[in-house]
Amino acid sequence: MTRAGYVALLGRPNVGKSTLLNRMLGQKISITSSKPQTTRHQILGIHTLPDTQIVYVDTPGLHLKARKAMNRYLNRTASQALGYVDVVVWLVEALRWTEEEDYILEALQEFAGPVLLVLNKVDRVRDKPALLPFIQAVSAKREFAEVIPLSALRRDNLAALEQSLARLLPEGEFLFDESQITTVSQRFLAAEVVREKLMRELRDELPYRLAVEVESFEETERLIRIRALIWVERPGQKAIVVGANGATLKRIGSLARQDLERMLDSPVFLQTWVKVRDGWSDNERALQSLGYT
Ligand code: GDP
Ligand code: MG
Repeated sequence: MTRAGYVALLGRPNVGKSTLLNRMLGQKISITSSKPQTTRHQILGIHTLPDTQIVYVDTPGLHLKARKAMNRYLNRTASQALGYVDVVVWLVEALRWTEEEDYILEALQEFAGPVLLVLNKVDRVRDKPALLPFIQAVSAKREFAEVIPLSALRRDNLAALEQSLARLLPEGEFLFDESQITTVSQRFLAAEVVREKLMRELRDELPYRLAVEVESFEETERLIRIRALIWVERPGQKAIVVGANGATLKRIGSLARQDLERMLDSPVFLQTWVKVRDGWSDNERALQSLGYT
């Protein structure tokens, strides 16, 4: 009998959910950056083992202060995932428990299934013996199916997580075709890759107020032609994205093209534009028109 089910990756922003997902799949499908809030949509990553199919749901981080429309949207998608998943993998940073962890602990009260606690970033912990009392302290907070220290970045102890998941998933037929890795379109991935490069290259210069829309995605015999629109909120932000003599946008486009050529296994011709849309992150309607429904 095979096993199959959905696994939510939960945790505060920047804890390493997308990195873990990409490592578990052995392939890049979710974007990561050192800035929180990189993952805005729910991304399914499908990992098919000989007898088990693990379908990961990479959720946007839960936010303490959900004042803005964008943050409310992020919280909604994260708690929606709790409604249908079989197992929750909750990531915290090893030796670090914050107010945000308390908030997630509370949100998890509505979830009746097994919760695996992952202590990520153990590569950063110098004082390894300190892990034990930390594990004891967090284990007292609620029941966990298991507590697994690992490093997503260094690929340390990922097998332990995979084995636990395989054990916890319900018996049943595979949910997706064995060759399928994700449910999101190539078009969507293209937009996500451009957004990742923007976040990385611009760092603290630009807040989260940008969105990428793929206007056209055209496969020809020789290459894939992609037109990407970058939406910002203010003319000043447009100037930052474009850079002096267009240098920043050119660099972002080139980095994105290289990634996309690898992911799509084809030469890519990528064109990028920057457009200004006023106050979009605080406007639900504008969010919807960009696909954040
Ligand atoms: P998310 O917001 O939870 O999806 O977090 P990301 O996967 O985007 O990771 C946030 C940052 O933490 C990135 O800079 C990652 O490289 C880094 N990171 C993730 N996992 C590890 C880890 O195991 N060790 C270390 N040192 N850094 C990590
Ligand atoms: Mg993420």
